[in-house]
Amino acid sequence: MTAGIPPLTRGIIAWSILLAVVAGGTVALLAIAIARTPVEHTASIVVVPHPDDEFQTWSLVEDTPDEYKIFVSLTRGDETGFCEPDIRETSLQADLGERAPDPDPPGRWTPECMEARQNSLLGYLTQMSESDPTIPGDFGAMTEYTDLPAEGVEICHDDDGVRDCDASLRTARVWKDAAGRGAVVFFDLGDGDLTQDEAAWALQTLIANRDTWGLDPARVGAMIGAFANEGHSCYSYPHPDHVAVHQVLWNVDFGVGPQVGATCFLDPRQRMSAFVSPESAAAAFALGPNGERLGAHGRNYGWLHDDAFPLAGIRQNDLFMSFQSFWVRFN
Ligand SMILES: [Zn+2]
Repeated sequence: MTAGIPPLTRGIIAWSILLAVVAGGTVALLAIAIARTPVEHTASIVVVPHPDDEFQTWSLVEDTPDEYKIFVSLTRGDETGFCEPDIRETSLQADLGERAPDPDPPGRWTPECMEARQNSLLGYLTQMSESDPTIPGDFGAMTEYTDLPAEGVEICHDDDGVRDCDASLRTARVWKDAAGRGAVVFFDLGDGDLTQDEAAWALQTLIANRDTWGLDPARVGAMIGAFANEGHSCYSYPHPDHVAVHQVLWNVDFGVGPQVGATCFLDPRQRMSAFVSPESAAAAFALGPNGERLGAHGRNYGWLHDDAFPLAGIRQNDLFMSFQSFWVRFN
């Protein structure tokens, strides 16, 4: 049907259709589907490659009192240049309310960098839980599970040209919400070098150990992956760790319910779209009159951006967006 129409025109046509569909029906159909589902307490597993990607799934996560939410970060985000002191000197805007990384990282790939990024995620969820009480946000001590069985998968880091496949990388750190709303689980699969096999190992390990780790064993209602986009005309995000999350949720059937990946509306695989509520969008991204980071994302993750994180709307032209689209597998 679109043969002979130049790509730019096709894009404009597609966006026009999107606007019509959004006005008319996709979201309404989704709401009907949800409304018809009998209320059952389930668990959701939110899969992010890095600690700061959670908002990419937020339209499916917010205001869900019947869902126990497990936020899984597959890496510790330790490759970020913002852990280098000279870069952070210009990126951290503490005067605007951005929280300084804690502890103070002396560089990339350091334990302090990992810990600071973990703490940013815990801080983000804690602040988001203040306005949305269905979000886990009351975290106590961390429990670390080490020497997890390899199950034939080699877990490696490839940092600065140095390859490390030590058994100590087969670890999971678990924080539980004191109010029973969910948990945070950190694996250590290597920021920048995540593979589909490593991600599959981590998610299978999590599913197999929910009981042992003291997590709610409720039926998993959905596994929801963070955003990636290779080639469709939304925000371009071919980051290999994000692509690995898409690959694992698309290719590997974990047998626990639908597997969902955040994508561009124009991705032909797209099956479901929804808006983040204005309340949650503000809770994460609101700025004060002088650019003060009032929202949880800006406040806790602001040190990972030179300026303020932008929030895209219906055009989906930034990494974080209030209008979110997803493909669905193994439904
Ligand atoms: Zn990321």
